[in-house]
Amino acid sequence: MKYIVILCDGMADEPLESLSGKTPLEAAKTLNMDRLAKNAEIGMVQTVPKGMSPGSDTANLSVIGYDPKKYYSGRSPLEALSIGAQMGDLDVSFRCNLVTLTEDEDCYEERTILDHSSGEISTEDAAVLMEALSKGLAKDGYHFYVGTSYRHLLIQNNGHVTELTPPHDILTKKIGGYLPEDEVLREMMVKSYDILKDHPINIKRREEGKNPANSAWFWGAGTRPALTSFEEKNKVKGAMISAVDLLKGIAVGAEMDNITVEGANGGLHTNYGGKAEAAVKALTEDGYDFVYVHIEAPDEMGHQGSTDDKIKAIELIDDLVIGPVAEGLEQAGEDYRMLILPDHPTPVRVRTHTGDPVPYMLYDSTNAVKGQDEYSERTAQKTGIFREKGDRLIDHLLERE
Ligand SMILES: [Zn+2]
Repeated sequence: MKYIVILCDGMADEPLESLSGKTPLEAAKTLNMDRLAKNAEIGMVQTVPKGMSPGSDTANLSVIGYDPKKYYSGRSPLEALSIGAQMGDLDVSFRCNLVTLTEDEDCYEERTILDHSSGEISTEDAAVLMEALSKGLAKDGYHFYVGTSYRHLLIQNNGHVTELTPPHDILTKKIGGYLPEDEVLREMMVKSYDILKDHPINIKRREEGKNPANSAWFWGAGTRPALTSFEEKNKVKGAMISAVDLLKGIAVGAEMDNITVEGANGGLHTNYGGKAEAAVKALTEDGYDFVYVHIEAPDEMGHQGSTDDKIKAIELIDDLVIGPVAEGLEQAGEDYRMLILPDHPTPVRVRTHTGDPVPYMLYDSTNAVKGQDEYSERTAQKTGIFREKGDRLIDHLLERE
């Protein structure tokens, strides 16, 4: 038996007036999902435990089978794992954003934060600035790592996890009241401004009308998550297919292999077909029993508030991922169980995540059960099946219960 999760990030939504009361999933043309739905178990699952924040981190941990209440130790350590940063048990990782502050004030505390992403600075430019920070802020027991675009990392040996402010939560505010209480971190931030402000890259960015990356901002502190090995826990060999650092990090933590797909970028125009091909190859040729295919696009379209693009993303997943994976396994003569679900809703109306339960569909090629005409929020609610513990759904997929 082969096992597949197709994780459609943020796909669940609400009935929309503009779609005559349908949700984007209902409005999308999804021939493949509809075909599977007729013989699949469909129900609702609470992926994010009540009281926890509905992030892709907590929700995906849960779907992979790790109770976020027990295993979640912050977002930045998962990202640290994905970029190969070394983290000991006593180390603390911090997200280090490159941000844009106002420049007219006399002292650091008086500045206002304008942009948490420095105009989504390129990784190339950011790497040069991070190098400058790494040298200028060098201190025993502190290590900087370059990530992607404005997202980087600082790892402190033998540190403490403290409450820090996410920079995207205080845009246009004066920063004085939101700086770290930890003196080392605070001093590093003050000094980062002096190092970065007149760096040639920022002089050029100002000339080009772009936001200068003139300060580091530390937040999202956490320790290394102590995930048990996925293979040891479940007795199946698993692989992750995702473009997103966070998911790759969860895979590293769970000792699953990451399969890289060229052109997979987390956007609407990602390489859907390449992901499907990689999944089928992993299962039929490379000896994996389980693959987790994560597709970011519906979530991004939800954040953008674009109903049409969200529908488009769902149709592309149906046409280019779900169809080809099912066909590929059927042609190879493999029996399979396929679980399709979002991690959390990202309704286009609210443009952010919610913690509501999500619809799931579990199809077993060897066991045709009586299903529904289609897979949607509505049909999933109608069946009355509700799984309260999201981290146990994987046991159901893997026939462990
Ligand atoms: Zn999101």
